[in-house]
Amino acid sequence: MDSFGRTVDYLRISVTDRCNERCLYCMPQGYKGWEQKPDHLTAEEIIRVVRVAAEMGFRKFRLTGGEPLVRRDLLDIVRVISGIPGVACVGLSTNATKLATLAQPLHAAGLRTVNISLDALNADIYHRVTGGNVADVLAGIRAAVAAGFERVKLNAVLMRDVNEQELWPLVLFAAEHGLPLRLIELMPITTTDVLTDKNFFPVSEAMDLLAQRDELIAQPSVQIGWGPAKYFKLRHTGALVGFIGAMTNLHFCETCNKMRLTADGKIRPCLGDHGELDLRDTLRHNVSDAAVRAVLESALRQKPLEHSFRNQFKPCRPMTAIGG
Ligand code: SAM
Repeated sequence: MDSFGRTVDYLRISVTDRCNERCLYCMPQGYKGWEQKPDHLTAEEIIRVVRVAAEMGFRKFRLTGGEPLVRRDLLDIVRVISGIPGVACVGLSTNATKLATLAQPLHAAGLRTVNISLDALNADIYHRVTGGNVADVLAGIRAAVAAGFERVKLNAVLMRDVNEQELWPLVLFAAEHGLPLRLIELMPITTTDVLTDKNFFPVSEAMDLLAQRDELIAQPSVQIGWGPAKYFKLRHTGALVGFIGAMTNLHFCETCNKMRLTADGKIRPCLGDHGELDLRDTLRHNVSDAAVRAVLESALRQKPLEHSFRNQFKPCRPMTAIGG
């Protein structure tokens, strides 16, 4: 439990700051601040953190990045951590461009859930937002569904005039495939051109837009996964849409249950707060698990009441370096 009585049992682990896409909202254009490979935690170090965190009561672990599927030993990491006592669920956040061949082996390794970023279905808009090829993502989604994961969710970041017109096609796609779709407000975590007030598209407007085409029925008891989305069922299409209003929902942090581990071994108690504690040094110089646990406990104590995004937050490390 943190200092504000919130149960924090969810650790998001970035396994790399590298990515094979270049999302407008995530990585500054021409970004060159890549970490050196020796700075990344090794598989053994990640596994050790998970073991100690699970002993403390962390239950849910999500592997992210950068793009986690570009890390070569990802399957080994999944296989080992999903078997650690106390670990209830291992999930993955991915752009799915490499999932077509990896979905089945990941499932076999013990991965339970997959969140897939899909900001547009239109190939040109998708390319403009991410630099990638939407056909690869669609193949990845098909493979994830076929692999039989417990849950596959779609995530889209809302950007006015960028992917606004893609909202309805995304809803229809989500309904057709029976996959929950989450619409996420743009957060000022990175210094990129897209992060302007003009591009900000609040979830309330997205709801209004969808309400022009379908009836939104609140699903207060629906909790899919461990995240902060508020879910609505669309009466006619049948789509289940979650809204993540990190910026406009003033109660957003009240139920926060997570901390982050960056690829270079920093524990970050809150995405929207620059505070980080160095765990890598402890992992590399201290043999005792108690020392690792002490850093995790200290991070838990330092977890702020709420993010600082609304307080003239100055982005520092880009999202790709922190882990989404
Ligand atoms: N590469 C993987 C992916 O595409 O999902 C995992 C990492 S990505 C940073 C994880 C999530 O962070 C994605 O769903 C992405 O949409 C979200 N994200 C990144 N930058 C964001 C921003 N500035 N505002 C809101 N969400 C953001």
